[in-house]
Amino acid sequence: MTATVYFVSRERLAGWLDGLAETKTLIAPREIEGVLLYRPVQSSAEIARGYTRPVLSAKEVFFPSTERLLTIERTGQQIALHEALPEGEQVIFGVRPCDARGVRVLDALFLETQPIDAHYARRRASTTLIGLACPTMGDTCFCTSVGGAPDDASDVDVMLTEVEGGYAVQPVTDHGWALIARLGREEFTGELPPPVLSEPVPLPPIEAWPPQFSSAFWQDISERCLSCRICAYVCPTCRCFDVRDEAMPGGNGQRQFERLRCWDSCTGEAYRRIAGGHNPRAVKGDRLRNRFFCKFHYYAQQYGPLACTGCGRCIDACPVNIDITEVMTAIAAAHRTEGDA
Ligand code: SF4
Ligand code: SF4
Repeated sequence: MTATVYFVSRERLAGWLDGLAETKTLIAPREIEGVLLYRPVQSSAEIARGYTRPVLSAKEVFFPSTERLLTIERTGQQIALHEALPEGEQVIFGVRPCDARGVRVLDALFLETQPIDAHYARRRASTTLIGLACPTMGDTCFCTSVGGAPDDASDVDVMLTEVEGGYAVQPVTDHGWALIARLGREEFTGELPPPVLSEPVPLPPIEAWPPQFSSAFWQDISERCLSCRICAYVCPTCRCFDVRDEAMPGGNGQRQFERLRCWDSCTGEAYRRIAGGHNPRAVKGDRLRNRFFCKFHYYAQQYGPLACTGCGRCIDACPVNIDITEVMTAIAAAHRTEGDA
């Protein structure tokens, strides 16, 4: 991380963002019918202020909830495939550090593990992340317990911090330096305001999980789970998907189909069902256990990072108050008890 910090006034930043929106797709937190989402904006005036975090994470910019992978055209005996790769430069403004970290978690699977995902890679290469530090942790945030921080600049290209009269600007990557080349700025000489932190949650070490695999805890906690999957859809790191082909209206004797990729989740009942109807995770407790083992054990073991950034969205979204921090606390306590025994 570079130590260079600049100051830019609020007005100058707004003008610069307006200019960016004319040449690239500018995506920022925007309120749509009362719901805050990362969405394209035409001008800085549309960008929300004073938010904790959008309801959905920045994941959907790189890995949309539904995406066409290719189209299939059949004319007589001829079949043609057309790959639908995304195009165009985009900038995401106002990315919270937990969401930027979520992108790093997705990189470990989609970019750093073979085969590389072409759609994700294309969007990742053409997107610059402008982070916005959180002045305070939200009620359900626990980023500091899983290695992050409200002002962590590690995963963005440029980090902004709100200061008196404007923003402190920290370019982090070459992409970030290039992006701010035309942002009129002066050196920032003050102190960056430290974020207000919440009490940490105990993070069980990776070896704490396998001994709890057969614990009755999973069936107990899942008793109220609705298998609704919203916890995965709001999560910046859940990345399971389903692929299906659907017929489209054709013309001139053609038959057309599209191959779609849609978000899926291991908490859903049908997720693990296989040919012949067998379901190795037919029981809710087994599915919920998989969700938490994936976050804190399987993913870290296989790809490196933990698959949780502590954003707290799944806590806010779960209709029956299943709270990931309670799960972490319970597993950490069980691990301590086993250590004492
Ligand atoms: S707190 Fe929940 S939604 Fe946020 S990264 Fe962790 S598992 Fe995903
Ligand atoms: S959001 Fe809650 S109820 Fe829905 S699948 Fe997740 S844990 Fe179960």
